[in-house]
Formats: sequence, structure tokens, C-alpha cells
Amino acid sequence: ETVALAIEISHLKKSYALKPVLRNINLALPRGQRMVLLGANGAGKTTLLRILAGLGKAGSGTFLIEGLDSRYELQEIRRRIGFVAHQPYLYEELTVLENLLFFGQLYGVKQARERAMALLQQVGMERRTKDRIRSLSRGQVQRVAWVRALLHSPSLLLLDEPDTGLDQDGNRLVEVLLAEHTTRGGSILFTTHNLERALTWSDHIVILAGGRVVYQHEAASLTHEELVQRYQEVVT
Ligand code: ATP
Repeated sequence: ETVALAIEISHLKKSYALKPVLRNINLALPRGQRMVLLGANGAGKTTLLRILAGLGKAGSGTFLIEGLDSRYELQEIRRRIGFVAHQPYLYEELTVLENLLFFGQLYGVKQARERAMALLQQVGMERRTKDRIRSLSRGQVQRVAWVRALLHSPSLLLLDEPDTGLDQDGNRLVEVLLAEHTTRGGSILFTTHNLERALTWSDHIVILAGGRVVYQHEAASLTHEELVQRYQEVVT
């Protein structure tokens, strides 16, 4: 397969009731690269990620994930995506391992138990396999959510504020997971409210305001000061 783009969004629009939330979004992310979505609360970042993950519907427009058309191939698209949302979307009353085996089966993961155990070890949660989700701290739940997202070896990661509410160890872990994913050729689209992390964790910076792309730049040729200035110009 030689499709060069991980994500190709064309003329995507979405309204809630009569309120436009996404207005004519056009974006392209090359395979193996990382893009960050910046913007104030309500700019439409979460809405866009949810649509790409197949959890929300676009009003109009199309998107391709690794060349697959969202109108016809949503099932296969879902299989290629790992999504880490604000909400963990795990079953509170099930244990860590029960949750992961359930999702493993849902995605048809082979040797799900071994894969889950290896990932749990990587995020430092191998001793909590028999604990119910509701007994874990927020940071621990987030680690399990990461394992769930990686279990089926997705090629595209969609991450909604993966750095929010994490301590230093948590952030280092996220950095390692991001690096491993792109080293393996995977692609990443994430959101953050931290402009410094946006620069260091991404290749492409995108700023949304009022449901539009108002700014785009390569991260490598942008200083922190420049980004702060641009952000203030277009968001406020
Ligand atoms: P944040 O940084 O707070 O996550 P965001 O950029 O992700 O913000 P969205 O969550 O995508 O923004 O929300 C965009 C707009 O859509 C907001 O005005 C929000 O109130 C509205 N919105 C989101 N979900 C719904 C919904 N289910 N019904 C109605 N309006 C919604």
C-alpha cells in the first residue's frame, strides 16, 4: 500500500442544532508524521477528532484515512485508529484485564492477553490487572486507556489532550509512546493547550478558531515566541 496521506480532510462541516462548529475544514497529514490542533475551548478540536474516530458524524464533506473513504469504509478506518479521549470509555465495574480482553475481542486482536500484559508493563500497570477501573486513580485509568488504544496496533493515533492532568512521569511516558508510534511509521493527530508541547511533540501546527483553520505552520521552522504571538493574534 502506498497511500502517502494518513489523513485527508476535505470541506468538512458540522453543526449542532443551527450552530456551526466546524466550517469547511481542509487538512492533510502525511503518513508517519504528527499534527497538533490548537485553539481555545469550543474551537471544535474534540468534535473533529470524534468525527475522524468514527464516533461522530460530519454534516457534510469527506475524509480519507490512509486512503480509505469515510463514507464507505468506516469499519476498516476504526480498526486503524487508536483514540485516547478525555473520557476513558472503560467499564468501571470490570477489572483492568477484563476491559482489555473485551476490547481485544471487539477488535479481533490475536493473543490479546499477551499483548495487553506487555503494554500494561510498559505503562507501569502490570500489578493492577485484577483491579476494577473504579478503584484506580485518574492517572492510572488514563494509562489503561492508552493500553486500550494501542491494543490493536493502530497506525493512526488520535489523542485529545494527552498531556492534561498528567504528572512529570506521565508526560515522559506519553512522549515515549508517541516516539515509539512514529518510529514504527505510525501517524498522530493530537490536541493540547500547551504551546510548548505542541512545538516539541509535533511536525505540523494547526490552529482552529470558530471552527475554521486559521493558521498552519511546520513546527520545525517556528520558535516558541513566534507561536505564542501567532496564537494570540488568531485566537483572541
Ligand atoms: P476544548 O478545548 O474545551 O475541548 P474544543 O475545541 O474541543 O474545546 P469542541 O468540544 O469540539 O471544542 O466544541 C465545539 C463547540 O461545539 C462548542 O461550542 C461546544 O459547546 C459545541 N458542542 C460540542 N458537542 C456538542 C453537542 N453534543 N451538542 C451541542 N453542542 C456541542
